[in-house]
Amino acid sequence: MAQLIREWAGINTFAPATQTKLLELLGKLKHENVNTLTILVMGKGGVGKSSTVNSIVGERVVTISPFQSEGPRPVMVSRSRAGFTLNIIDTPGLIEGGYINDMALDIIKRFLLNKTIDVLLYVDRLDAYRVDNLDKLVAKAITDTFGKGIWNKALIALTHAQFSPPDGLPYDEFFSKRSEALLKVVRSGARIKKDASQASTIPVVLVENSGRCNKNENDEKVLPDGAAWIPKLVQTITEVTLNGSESIHVDQKLIEGPNPNQTGKLWIPLILALQYFFVIKPIRGFIKKDIATESRPSWETHESETNFSGRDIF
Ligand code: GDP
Ligand code: MG
Repeated sequence: MAQLIREWAGINTFAPATQTKLLELLGKLKHENVNTLTILVMGKGGVGKSSTVNSIVGERVVTISPFQSEGPRPVMVSRSRAGFTLNIIDTPGLIEGGYINDMALDIIKRFLLNKTIDVLLYVDRLDAYRVDNLDKLVAKAITDTFGKGIWNKALIALTHAQFSPPDGLPYDEFFSKRSEALLKVVRSGARIKKDASQASTIPVVLVENSGRCNKNENDEKVLPDGAAWIPKLVQTITEVTLNGSESIHVDQKLIEGPNPNQTGKLWIPLILALQYFFVIKPIRGFIKKDIATESRPSWETHESETNFSGRDIF
């Protein structure tokens, strides 16, 4: 059955200036022969993934919740406009009780089978003061699932961007400190070397999903740095799409593919065999030889009636 893709009517809800910029960007993509764009949205729970999906589509297409009770399944929303199709995939948070939710990850992988990811939108909050091991675990889980290459197709979106940094810290300075800290932990979780060109090229963009977002004189939603964030986000998505790196096609091989834990397991029989030949066998040999050549201890020669069961100890 041919899939009927809905018209991307949500664009019409944006300020006219924003609409113009978005249509321009879609035109640019079509000009580069990109007629379909699939964005995968990932991150921890409650950071604003679903809200960001709604903001981009311009409709309330996925459920948002302040209480991290996300559905267990990913949702793909498709919209088309002037011969261009946008697919955006919202996913459940990857962390549960301080650990990676392997089941959620597995469901996401299966959902993505035979799909091609053009852009990974990694979402976190701007108004957070520290990065922790969980961020690293999420980056690692994404890398283990899709391969390092996914980070060539990634951008980081920081939500709650209408925010006043503490202690009178300038907004731009807070933004760059927060970005750097997050990039560092993502790189380490993704095992990207610091000097690799990939490291500096993951763009970070700001997002404000709240209905109370400030607007400029053109009625566009703007952030404390003055930027209209929707066109900027879509522009960055366009740049990542056209950056020349390969999109990630999710096939059966990738889904079942070399999980680092399993790769490790392949070595177990070999290590056991080596242990047998190089450790256990020689030791046995030594012991046998030892027993054979053992000179009788003096007490034994003295009391010749001593039974030999004592040797069984060895
Ligand atoms: P998800 O679990 O990552 O999908 O997060 P949701 O999109 O469900 O959002 C979690 C909560 O944060 C909801 O109450 C949203 O209204 C709120 N929220 C999300 N993004 C923003 C944002 O940019 N600004 C503000 N003020 N609230 C946000
Ligand atoms: Mg959600």
